[in-house]
Amino acid sequence: APVIRFERARKEYPDGTVAVDGLDLEVFEHEMLVLVGPSGCGKSTTLRMANRLVELTSGRVLVKGEDIATSDPVALRRRIGYVIQNVGLFPHRTVGQNVATVPALLGWDSRRTRDRTAELLELVGLEPAIYTRRYPHQLSGGERQRVGVARALAADPPVLLMDEPFGAVDPAGRRRLQQEFWRIQRELGTTVMLVTHDIDEAVRLGDRIAVFSKGGRLEQLADAVNLLAR
Ligand code: ADP
Ligand code: ADP
Repeated sequence: APVIRFERARKEYPDGTVAVDGLDLEVFEHEMLVLVGPSGCGKSTTLRMANRLVELTSGRVLVKGEDIATSDPVALRRRIGYVIQNVGLFPHRTVGQNVATVPALLGWDSRRTRDRTAELLELVGLEPAIYTRRYPHQLSGGERQRVGVARALAADPPVLLMDEPFGAVDPAGRRRLQQEFWRIQRELGTTVMLVTHDIDEAVRLGDRIAVFSKGGRLEQLADAVNLLAR
């Protein structure tokens, strides 16, 4: 059974723009599904339908068989991690506090939170002893993006939505981050939906690639070569 299932999903914004028009799409457990297509074809809208940052005009989205229209959006967003370009770290909170955002909401005790924060910073290649107490403005773009990934993974969400997650990182750093993220995703078995306009990124990371076209229609779904898996 798919982890996420879009059924005739449609989004018409209040100004009449139809961003997604009758989308049928399934995302399977442990896979990295990459959404590609020209700017404005509804990729971000589709992604944000899955955590209810965008509400559907018609159709539905099921997560683990449950229609998310009936689920509590706050609870939903704790189960579904979300990473965007330029991350949106809280500027007045340390790296440790940023990573601990969801654990704090979930009421984890401080020891468990500290251990998990350190573990995640290690995972994304940031030495905890150096980075935990730093502030976002003391980090490079690539380091901030790593913190964003760590924060999204903190409570071990089964599903991760990523919108141009490495877009703000310079090309050399991006390659390294893609490689490391791919390793992390395999290790944790997280189900990922990733939006990019970078075809190279799509074929490097994707198990399958969904090609969107204008009007938010899904044109084709291809098994990817997955360069990193070889
Ligand atoms: P993509 O991620 O593929 O670039 P988006 O999902 O961001 O596409 O946008 C799809 C279409 O919906 C575009 O025409 C965009 O301008 C429009 N759109 C996105 N967000 C809004 C909004 N909040 N209000 C009105 N139109 C929007
Ligand atoms: P605030 O009061 O602004 O929310 P807190 O100091 O209470 O900030 O921290 C919020 C969360 O971040 C808590 O769960 C705390 O355990 C965690 N936290 C704070 N500092 C660190 C740190 N250096 N390493 C790991 N977790 C931290």
